[in-house]
Amino acid sequence: MLGLAAAALTVAGAVPVHAAPDAKPLAGTVVLLDPGHQLGNSNPKFSKQMAQKKFNGTTVKGCNTTGTATNSGYPEATFNWKVAKRLKRLLEQQGARVELTRSTNSYNAWGPCVWDRAKQANRIGADIMVNIHADGAPAKDHGFFVLAPGLVKGWTEDVVKPGRKLANAMIAGMTAAGAPPSNYIANQLMISTNTTGLNFSDVPAVTVELGNMRNAGDAQRMTSKAGQRQYAQWLLAGIDRYFSRG
Ligand SMILES: [Zn+2]
Repeated sequence: MLGLAAAALTVAGAVPVHAAPDAKPLAGTVVLLDPGHQLGNSNPKFSKQMAQKKFNGTTVKGCNTTGTATNSGYPEATFNWKVAKRLKRLLEQQGARVELTRSTNSYNAWGPCVWDRAKQANRIGADIMVNIHADGAPAKDHGFFVLAPGLVKGWTEDVVKPGRKLANAMIAGMTAAGAPPSNYIANQLMISTNTTGLNFSDVPAVTVELGNMRNAGDAQRMTSKAGQRQYAQWLLAGIDRYFSRG
């Protein structure tokens, strides 16, 4: 009977265990990927745009930031962009409709502001929004963690529960796929009431800090093509986990 029960569970899941290579387990899903920051956010000619501020439910915060970088100067904006582009292709191969929050990674472009990125998720009716980032922490810190929205009255009531579910799926799926977990954030989960992009979203949204750019090992992986491909595959495993648990 145990065998039968296990078989029944497999059939009930949205993603068959032995899916054919051409299967489209994510058909019908809409995913917004947000490659954090933009190279031109650090360009002085955009300082006026960058100076825009909005109340996010708890604090007045800025439009966007420049992001961090490795010790050798590889920008977070570029890392986020490369991983997001790879992940978009992987998700599309599985049948998802995918949009990005920015169309370039250029020193001659700014933003968009984080609140507008979240509004894009609402506008396109995304099932989920995944914000792709890397941290700039002390050198001994490494590994990935996930930020999920905390309760902000009048702002996040609608997304706290599904956001937590998405965060848990990302953590479980990425860990199972081999992504090195954070050694400085307990259980790889941080609940935030002060992340503008999470508070403005009306769809389940998380921010994934894929690693620490100031850590030598993480930086090495983040700046190599093979490493970027690996990060995209780990994120895919998390997203697959979320949709397969419906
Ligand atoms: Zn960032």
